[in-house]
Amino acid sequence: MNDLILKPGRERSLLRRHPWVFSGAFCPVKEEIAPGSTVRVVDAKGNVLGMGAYSPASRLSVRMWSFKEQEIGKEFFAEQLRKAYALRKNVFGTLPDAYRLVCAESDGIPGLTVDIYGKYAVCQFSCAGTEFHKEVITELLLDYAEGIYERSDVDSRVREGLEPVTGQLAGTEVPDEISFTENGIRYIAYPKTGHKTGFYLDQRLNRKAVMEHAAGMKEVLNCFCYTGGFGLAAAKGGAEHVLNVDCSGPALELAKRNAQENGFPETQFEVLEADVFQFLRRCRDSRKTFDMIILDPPKFAETEAQAMKAARGYKDINLLAMKLLNPGGKLFTFSCSGAMTDDLFRKVVDSAAADAGIDFRITHWLSQGPDHPVSSAYPEGYYLKGLAGIVL
Ligand code: SAH
Repeated sequence: MNDLILKPGRERSLLRRHPWVFSGAFCPVKEEIAPGSTVRVVDAKGNVLGMGAYSPASRLSVRMWSFKEQEIGKEFFAEQLRKAYALRKNVFGTLPDAYRLVCAESDGIPGLTVDIYGKYAVCQFSCAGTEFHKEVITELLLDYAEGIYERSDVDSRVREGLEPVTGQLAGTEVPDEISFTENGIRYIAYPKTGHKTGFYLDQRLNRKAVMEHAAGMKEVLNCFCYTGGFGLAAAKGGAEHVLNVDCSGPALELAKRNAQENGFPETQFEVLEADVFQFLRRCRDSRKTFDMIILDPPKFAETEAQAMKAARGYKDINLLAMKLLNPGGKLFTFSCSGAMTDDLFRKVVDSAAADAGIDFRITHWLSQGPDHPVSSAYPEGYYLKGLAGIVL
């Protein structure tokens, strides 16, 4: 077992159980330590603060597994998975067809994401530590799913000195498409080719909110629709017409397919390939209006340094959308950039309303679903924020 010694005073975040330690916090490491292997983290006075995974390639050189001295192996991961599963059972009662079983740091397994789609699990091993223990974790996951597929094609692996990898890991072969039901709607996840692990599970409660508010809506606009998640929810909730806009043709083909599977005719569920920024301007210029608009863009900011630039992007689309809403119209607007704080996002939406010259009332504060919990020790786990409101 290798020890990594912290410089004096650098133990503070660990004492609060924050799982990350950056390389600058440690005294120089003299010995060669295998990437991903377990190290014991010791403070300057010699107290053992816990066990972590070492990642020599990354500035984030240790992710903590545990805040006490213990063996990190099969038993440890089995226990972490049991806790993660128990939490989902607890918050859902009856487990949904599709849910996130493991949410990395927020579930005490830094660098591991596991999404369950029916009988199958799709996982991402995004750092050296989880890569090191992949075999053991995969074997344990067979207790939760029949077939395990890996989608470790995430950017964060590059920072860890790891190549992207995808493929079947264990059990029965995971199919290209997995159909599942959420709130009475049939969705298809594409575990091998879709974004992330194949579907945006984090928006579960927000799709439900859209469904509940869509009754009687004549014209709904679903921007950045991907495979149609929110649009299907609006159609199911009783919207008369939903226009789904995305710049990806293949995503729109899948959205159309999802609509067919649910029996929504093209007259009710329409798709349009366009750049949302340009499309919203075209609508403004042609005085087209809507009764409900959903804005769920991709991440505009990766880091805090980019947050201000991202804020301009959010402001632009929110301002345009607000101008297109009829009186009584509803806006559901989201940001999945962790770097955008609640406060900043709220300010962006407020100033968009001011510039649009409308009386906008925020009615709902929305967030990631309960299968994407946020550990009190790891606030970085909170990333998805949404606001819903009405134009008076
Ligand atoms: N709302 C979706 C997820 C959105 S992911 C859901 O609930 O499933 C972001 C989507 O935005 C992607 O499908 C991407 O193709 C699309 N996109 C990114 N930039 C865009 C742009 N400028 N105009 C239109 N679509 C865009």
